[in-house]
Amino acid sequence: ETAINRIAAGEVVERPASAVKELIENAIDAGARRIDVAIADGGKTLIRVTDDGCGIAPDELPLALSRHATSKIDGSDLLNINTFGFRGEALPSLGAVGRLTITSRMHKFDAAQITVAGGKMDPIRPAALTSGTVVELRNLFYATPARLKFMRSDRAETQAISDVVKRLAMAEPFISVTLRDVTSGGEGRVTFRADAETGDLFDALYGRLARVLGAEFAENSLRIDTEREAIHLTGYAALPTYSRGAAVAQFFFVNGRPVRDKQLHGALRAAYSDFLSRDRHPAVCLFIDCDPQHVDVNVHPAKAEVRFREPGVVRGLIVSGLRHALADAGH
Ligand code: ADP
Ligand code: MG
Repeated sequence: ETAINRIAAGEVVERPASAVKELIENAIDAGARRIDVAIADGGKTLIRVTDDGCGIAPDELPLALSRHATSKIDGSDLLNINTFGFRGEALPSLGAVGRLTITSRMHKFDAAQITVAGGKMDPIRPAALTSGTVVELRNLFYATPARLKFMRSDRAETQAISDVVKRLAMAEPFISVTLRDVTSGGEGRVTFRADAETGDLFDALYGRLARVLGAEFAENSLRIDTEREAIHLTGYAALPTYSRGAAVAQFFFVNGRPVRDKQLHGALRAAYSDFLSRDRHPAVCLFIDCDPQHVDVNVHPAKAEVRFREPGVVRGLIVSGLRHALADAGH
């Protein structure tokens, strides 16, 4: 069991940043309004994610750590995936590759805590916490030296974590997000902070993008809001005159999930082909929202790839949506 868990765990948790991604997604799924991430040594010795979401009832704690236990799907509903999590794999995987402690309090219950290390679970014990959940992962991969070896420098892992935090922060402008580096102990150093945005979704996204990608991007981008065959495309796309130099900033989210997908980037290239040479990358932050039945997010456990049922429609939507917006802006 433990060995199988550990092998499967490697699929979900490749490096500290993938653990951070899973934990933040869980906090978002739990309805958190604020999420604080603390890391030490590039996340190798410590990752702690604190949220003010719904919490977990004491009785549910061991279940949350069991493989394929998820509170988010009931089996009959595999196609209707609206939350990030749906596999019930993240927490057991993390508990197999490090020392995982979950402290949580659900409304009307007392706070409780559970620890699992190397796949072995300790009994639940009472804890002190007013609300929400704190998930702490220590010494990632300490029991799997082969994986330890593949981790990069603290600096590189810290950078990867920062990218993940910012990417998820872009998708959730109404949630306050902070990232702290506590390597030197104490409260640590805040390396990223985005307070909850207000207003309508476009206002909020504008404010959040200014925070994450810089005011210059926000000021030099076009609002995108279009639809085709019940697939929606929204967000912001930079004017062809705006350049970030060599830095590529192309962010896509499908039903709220960050994705990296060659076809989406290809569509982007086609949309800007009249304005930009192939070596210039338009900065965009775009959200594709559609019925979950029209997209398969189940391609890889890390869930970064997607497969659309009708890729041609999605491509056409991006190409024509962006071209129209550019034309309306006088390009
Ligand atoms: P999944 O997210 O795919 O359901 P996970 O292993 O990530 O699987 O989490 C297992 C379960 O633990 C979740 O379904 C949820 O019920 C609970 N859980 C995990 N993290 C949190 C959190 N931060 N707040 C509330 N519940 C949580
Ligand atoms: Mg999850």
